[in-house]
Amino acid sequence: MTQRDTRSVRLNDNSDSSGRYVLYWMQASMRAEHNPALETAVAYANERNLPCVAAFSLTDDFPGANLRHYTFLLEGLRETQRTLHARGVAFILFLGPPDEVIPAAAAAAAMVITDRSYLREPRRWRAEVARRVKTAVVQVEGDVVVPVEQASPKEEYSAATLRRKLNPQLEQYLQLPTEHSPQIPSCNLDWAQLGRDFRQLQQDLDRGVHTVLATMRIDRGVRPSSVYRGGFSEAARRLQEFLEQRLSEYHLRRNDPALGWVSNLSAYLHFGQISPVYIARQAQAARPPGDPGLEAFIEELVVRRELSMNFTQYNPYYDQYNCLPDWAQQTLETHTHDTRSELYELARLEQGETADRYWNAAQREMVDTGKMHGYMRMYWGKRLIEWHRTPREAFETAVYLNDKYELDGRDPNGYAGIAWCFGKHDRGWPERPVFGKVRSMTAGGLKRKFDIERYAERWSGGGKGETVT
Ligand SMILES: Cc1cc2nc3c(=O)[nH]c(=O)nc-3n(C[C@H](O)[C@H](O)[C@H](O)COP(=O)(O)OP(=O)(O)OC[C@H]3O[C@@H](n4cnc5c(N)ncnc54)[C@H](O)[C@@H]3O)c2cc1C
Repeated sequence: MTQRDTRSVRLNDNSDSSGRYVLYWMQASMRAEHNPALETAVAYANERNLPCVAAFSLTDDFPGANLRHYTFLLEGLRETQRTLHARGVAFILFLGPPDEVIPAAAAAAAMVITDRSYLREPRRWRAEVARRVKTAVVQVEGDVVVPVEQASPKEEYSAATLRRKLNPQLEQYLQLPTEHSPQIPSCNLDWAQLGRDFRQLQQDLDRGVHTVLATMRIDRGVRPSSVYRGGFSEAARRLQEFLEQRLSEYHLRRNDPALGWVSNLSAYLHFGQISPVYIARQAQAARPPGDPGLEAFIEELVVRRELSMNFTQYNPYYDQYNCLPDWAQQTLETHTHDTRSELYELARLEQGETADRYWNAAQREMVDTGKMHGYMRMYWGKRLIEWHRTPREAFETAVYLNDKYELDGRDPNGYAGIAWCFGKHDRGWPERPVFGKVRSMTAGGLKRKFDIERYAERWSGGGKGETVT
């Protein structure tokens, strides 16, 4: 089977029709570079002697999304639009729910190509679009290395069980898609070709991200990140800096919150602004095979990340307490009546005003920059279990805060990461108060391992800036 075959799946039984263009409905892979769905759409358009039109439908009520997320998303789309135009592919930004807008935009399309998501609402959109359009809809999976069903047909127990299945397939899938030049450019789009008047729904990104944001009815309660700007160029710049300065010692230093020895690419991956295959290929080119920094990075970028996609694809309760394995729920509930050190109201947690200055620092880092250090995310989630009456309430608070403030929130990694704090993808540990057999983490552990005071200091007074030193 070719890559195009194993990454592609038909979402309905309709055949492609005699339409006037091929529509690429961009949703998850918000980039012009290394995008298998885009390249499939251009290739189909070329085969049929048609133009390819790319469309993105922006809804103002995506669950949990706020000004911080929409700003980053639109910064990225603005660059994507420019790059696509330079390639001769029209890009249209529509305002409205995809399941309404895309079927209308596809009314005169010969076929629709889209990308893939592993979360509930975007999956529902795709099913609905496939049901409503008259032509064929093909989904192309471009934001993982190994397509999720090729990796495993079921929910995996742990990273170890998935790793055994992923590793033998990596070489086959670490291939970038071939870039196709559109034979018929679509940039000077004739609106009549789309078969309906879309002008009132179309948003002009050239007038600026803030102009588009001003027209939207979104939650403006969380300000844009003080550190991260969206877009492929910014992702590529960060990747280059990471490869040159940190990859070689990633295995030794990545966990230390005081150093920030990580790639900071998660928000770019979340919004599909950079391809994981491209990142992995660039990392492989930067270090020799078997290099410990490279191996540790590929473990996170591919095995851990794709374990999260496996989890959200196969576990329908991924963002709820019920997603946890029985042993974890049982042990946590056996300890529900254990004495808690503190019970904090949501507002105090949100402000980072607990008695734990390390936890407060992590919370403030997230609120200010939109990205908490990965090691602190584990500690942050574990402490929440101690500060709620029930583990279910703690789980809900973790999802709420993570999705609200993290730029990379509302992502399979977020749901898997939170579930991990409650025992998912982990094993049982010696029994302790409150946690039962679920692994606990303590401030003492942070002090022993890291210069955690330095981290706490940095975020104690609304500090800014990235933590690479
Ligand atoms: C409670 C909790 C909440 C989390 N919430 C999110 C979230 O909302 N969004 C998110 O993307 N990640 C989340 N993670 C996973 C992880 O902490 C972040 O992916 C990582 O910190 C991102 O920083 P980076 O890009 O600098 O990572 P790097 O260390 O540079 O790693 C490179 C890439 O590998 C992947 N990766 C790294 N660590 C993990 C991991 N533990 N699990 C899965 N993939 C990983 C990410 O895609 C990351 O961008 C969460 C983890 C926990 C414990």
